[in-house]
Amino acid sequence: MHYRPRDKFANLPDRIADLGDLAYNLWWSWHPEGRELFMMLGGRAAWSRSGHNPVKMMHELDDGILKLASLDPRFLRYYDAVMARFLGDMDPAGGWFHSEIADPREHSIAYFSAEYGLHHALPVYAGGLGFLAGDYLKESSDLGVPSVGVGFMYPEGYLLQRITPDGWQAGACERLDRENAPVRRLRDDDGNPLLVDIPLLDSHIYVEVWKVQVGRNDLYLMDTAVDANDPWDRTISDRLYTGDPEQRLRQEIVLGIGGVRILKAMGINPSVLHLNEGHPAFAILERIREKVEGGMNLQEAEEEVRRRTVFTTHTPVPAGHDKFPFPLMEKYFGSYIQKIGMSQREFFELGIDPRDPASGFNMTAFALRMSDHRNCVSRRHLEVTREMWRHLWPDLDEEDLPLDYVTNGIHVPTWIDRRLGNVTFIKYLGRDWLEKHDNASIWELIDEIPDDVLWRQHSRMKRSLINKINDRARDKWKDPESDSRTIIAFGTLLDPQVLTLGFARRFASYKRATLLLRDYERLQKILTDPRHPVQIIFAGKAHPDDQQSKLILQQVYNAAADKRFQGRIAFVEDYDQYLAQYLVHGVDVWVNNPRPPMEASGTSGMKASLNGVPQLSVFDGWWSEGYNGKNGWGFEGAEGDDKDDRDAASIYEILEKEVVPLYYRVDDGGVPRGWVKLMKEAIRVTGPHFTSRRMVKEYTEKFYRPALEGKVARKAL
Ligand SMILES: *Cc1c(COP(=O)(O)O)cnc(C)c1O
Repeated sequence: MHYRPRDKFANLPDRIADLGDLAYNLWWSWHPEGRELFMMLGGRAAWSRSGHNPVKMMHELDDGILKLASLDPRFLRYYDAVMARFLGDMDPAGGWFHSEIADPREHSIAYFSAEYGLHHALPVYAGGLGFLAGDYLKESSDLGVPSVGVGFMYPEGYLLQRITPDGWQAGACERLDRENAPVRRLRDDDGNPLLVDIPLLDSHIYVEVWKVQVGRNDLYLMDTAVDANDPWDRTISDRLYTGDPEQRLRQEIVLGIGGVRILKAMGINPSVLHLNEGHPAFAILERIREKVEGGMNLQEAEEEVRRRTVFTTHTPVPAGHDKFPFPLMEKYFGSYIQKIGMSQREFFELGIDPRDPASGFNMTAFALRMSDHRNCVSRRHLEVTREMWRHLWPDLDEEDLPLDYVTNGIHVPTWIDRRLGNVTFIKYLGRDWLEKHDNASIWELIDEIPDDVLWRQHSRMKRSLINKINDRARDKWKDPESDSRTIIAFGTLLDPQVLTLGFARRFASYKRATLLLRDYERLQKILTDPRHPVQIIFAGKAHPDDQQSKLILQQVYNAAADKRFQGRIAFVEDYDQYLAQYLVHGVDVWVNNPRPPMEASGTSGMKASLNGVPQLSVFDGWWSEGYNGKNGWGFEGAEGDDKDDRDAASIYEILEKEVVPLYYRVDDGGVPRGWVKLMKEAIRVTGPHFTSRRMVKEYTEKFYRPALEGKVARKAL
């Protein structure tokens, strides 16, 4: 198997030939100097036209420009410096993991996930689960954890969201242009695309494999749209989370079983399997099958695989747990389980939820039973999950259940505002703050930052957000279909002086996007107060098949267009990783009001807090452990039929009594001292702890280490 990166850039002069490797390694997505190098090469305009995607930009660049760059001493100096740093980071023996684990190079951790959010140039994600996986891979590279990712190469993962003048999401899915994305198709020695076959019923289906480089680590994405497959099979990897149960089952078979097969084709036999949510859990079966085929008896094989499997469950939302009808399971697994000597009854029992046995084969129940290392994604989520699944262990007391938690975290180099990190933090926290960011003592220096300095940085980020929104509205205005009402709803009247709340997330109903709009009159009073006005920026996508969510989105849009709010509410199209960066850096308050206990963790509030944007949130997910009384605002979710009304009232009250007065209380220099204190506390709490650095280290200590040694985790039976 090989791929020839340089073939793709045939005209790249030898002196700068390594640019080809760099373009295909997402290392640049979290190292600003990498992006800077490409910007220097092609110029700002070309960089921006390419959608900040160096592969696309380099394909479009004139040979003359490449030639000139290869002769330009200034460019070459920078090129050599960046390349030295890049190659240093690629050292397979580097990183924290290697000082922790014996014989690290003999191990690999296979990480399976249905989605990955790494960069907007590679849109194979829907939301939080994907960003968690993307941040995990980047951090694994930073720490030298030998992870290898497995997922799908969706041809149209990306919904270009377009809102009609009456507020309906009418987005079209855009096909990803793979030839210009930072992914490469694997080929066999003859140069043909590598095809791996996966048993499905009595026939086979074939996948092609695409490789993404994430720093030191690789991510393999499977694609079923190949000629060798029949038309229905070709569409298996068509879209994220298809609603058709049979197709979804086939998708999960390919993800789990196919994922193990492609690793094998690559010569990778992972020491540990880490399942990011239940979708890929059939990987467990394939790992068992390999062992049985190698001569182990079934029981030993199950035992062995269990000990080396980590399962992370991510949601209390019932629809988030896949259940497949037994007849379908029979159809697809009848002969497969026979081959490993498992009876149908034994197999079905592994996937039965005893509280609801008729609901079908439950992927979460299956994964919980078949892994020895199980975790939730926040302390609160552990409590909820214990309640949900305690019946799987009827003989155990609640505290003894073999469940643990590892709170989610965000990848600091990805989510920190570049200037805040490279100018302010470097100056006041120290040159090496980023390398040492999980060291809490560094963050104690946060008070060294003068209030006006931090405030100026924040004001800059806020202006840059509002400029971005204005640019988008201007573009929209050029569209002959658009009307002035739409342009106002898109945020043209936003004012950088005004206290700004941000609410951006998928339009899933449990996230309650319309909670803030519950009482128009009270909200109107808050937003349009002539002395102390407030504005809200909304963004988010509805799943294309989810009409209910599109209706919620329409309500938000209608509020944005409602004259009563005087242009103080905006809805911004196309919430993706790019817009998320602007939002989490540039608003003043991040609002989070899911219906407890449905938000297992939530990560956008961590991104905001890291950048000095405090969160106002109901106690749920990470906020139940992240809030300390000084780093934002929190309230207990209400119970009962009127809980939405009461939760809305809690938010209004916090805004009226605390947020607004604090924000507008400024000193003679125009700096809101009390507010800046809160900003600093938000940064101080998030910086060392709610990060993927702490998270990946915790996975290593709690699970990978015992799993690598074939031991049962501390709390497991
Ligand atoms: C971080 C992020 C999410 C997840 O945020 P939640 O707080 O879990 O809702 C979703 N979408 C984008 C674009 C993100 O950056």
